[in-house]
Amino acid sequence: MSTSVQRFSPYINGVMMEPSSGKFFQRFDPGDKGNMIALVGDGSRDVGAAVDAAREAFDGDRSGWVSDYRLRARVLLRAADIVRERASELARLESLFTGKTIRTSRLGDIPRTAEILEFYAGAADKLLGYSQQLRNGDVTVLLRQPVGVVAAITPWNFPLLILARQTAPALAAGCTVVAKPATITPATAIELAKILEKAGAPPGIFNVVTGPGETIGAELLKSPKIDVVNFTGETTTGKMIMQNAASSLKRVVLELGGKNPNIVFEDADLEQVANAVTYGAFANNGESCAAGSRLLVQRNVRKKLVEMVSNKIRGLRVGYQLDETSDLGPLVSQQQMEKVLEYVAAAFSEGLDVVVGGRRLSGGVFDKGFYVEPTLVDQTPPTSKLFREEIFGPVLTVTEFENEEEAVALANATVYGLAAGVWSNDSRKAMRVAEKVKAGTVWVNTYYTLPVEQPWGGFKESGIGRNNTILALEHYLEWKGVYIDTQKGPMRPYYGIVLGQKQS
Ligand code: NDP
Repeated sequence: MSTSVQRFSPYINGVMMEPSSGKFFQRFDPGDKGNMIALVGDGSRDVGAAVDAAREAFDGDRSGWVSDYRLRARVLLRAADIVRERASELARLESLFTGKTIRTSRLGDIPRTAEILEFYAGAADKLLGYSQQLRNGDVTVLLRQPVGVVAAITPWNFPLLILARQTAPALAAGCTVVAKPATITPATAIELAKILEKAGAPPGIFNVVTGPGETIGAELLKSPKIDVVNFTGETTTGKMIMQNAASSLKRVVLELGGKNPNIVFEDADLEQVANAVTYGAFANNGESCAAGSRLLVQRNVRKKLVEMVSNKIRGLRVGYQLDETSDLGPLVSQQQMEKVLEYVAAAFSEGLDVVVGGRRLSGGVFDKGFYVEPTLVDQTPPTSKLFREEIFGPVLTVTEFENEEEAVALANATVYGLAAGVWSNDSRKAMRVAEKVKAGTVWVNTYYTLPVEQPWGGFKESGIGRNNTILALEHYLEWKGVYIDTQKGPMRPYYGIVLGQKQS
């Protein structure tokens, strides 16, 4: 399929400009790798201009963005409407660049993006502080003020959704933004900038720098003009971000990797489990930090559940991402496909039981892109690298457990702690396990539903801080205490500490 080549370049102060480097990266369709779909400007030399634009828009507040919460609410609400109006175009763009199926974008990413914008539109005029009258009659007023300029560094798997999740609360709080999307998926970040502007955001409020993380990310982290960094991506990159942010003591929010268990007890409704496990492991081609990539099953029902899930997997249709009938699309890049295939090869070399899948797909459309069979690996021991490491692709491992205690121990036998599922018809048991699993989100008798009303973030090496919900606003607000003296006369009891009794 041939598509016209679009250009995506740094978007600064309301204008998409030519990159100062003069350089462009080529982006090819992951489902049809001979088809160039975009030229992405290398904005490595444009970081300073983007940061200055955001800084000026914040510090000068000539547009009223920082002070006028109704303006911010209106902009976010209108932006949500525009996302909905442009839903099919945005869904197509998102799928084309990422390889996620068009149904994923249309039914998931795009409507959820609109909901996030809408949610924080409603928060913009509710950033309440509080006050207290003190014993001596004085008053202390706690104001909540926006922190300043926020750098949002985002990955390639949910380019628009994650960017909205990171920046809508920042905008609602009155901050301004410099976004750095993944190099290979810049399109919808630029579109979001245009949408916000059309919705009434003044220039400079939301800037985007396209291009490589190594240079652009490093510049953003070095800049003393950035106050907060919200990063979503790999744990190793996250650690580096935290180190670099320390030089100017920026606030850091990190959403990192996951190796999420679905814990299934024998009393669960297995038909529902089989659907949810298949969905949770293979949604977004398995290229999701929330993927339920480890199935932990109680011994008595393992064989039955493996058979049920395997049958579901056999029924999945892998195909071109813009084809309405595809359940899974191509992986995002050759590099990602090779990484996933290495894990599959390790399953074979470790002598594990690859029940379904295990190959790169070939023939017809498959030869044109990065298509991998959805794969199930049974009886995966906790020592296996497939059990421990984030694969970030369509690979599900199965491990059995004897009892509740062992289930919790297996679930927690990872450096990650992002999400988990617990399946049981015994609600007390489900709650006990939910409490013991070290994860930021635990789904009970369901998996991978993530409305903006649900906090998102991880324990352990899955990150720091929470996005979504009103909790996210905290990252972008400062508390300021204003003490107001209400008393008459020149002296106060505490001045006496220095001035002495004679002067009172
Ligand atoms: P990366 O960490 O490689 O990249 C994420 C972003 O950081 C990209 O924009 C990248 O730019 C940029 N970047 C790369 N190097 C640096 C650097 N040195 N300094 C600053 N920025 C840098 O992650 P991926 O894009 O590969 O995304 C996959 C990962 O994201 C997975 O591990 C996944 O678990 C995690 N993730 C976590 C989520 C969560 O909610 N916890 C949600 C989604 C993904 P460039 O594109 O140029 O490399």
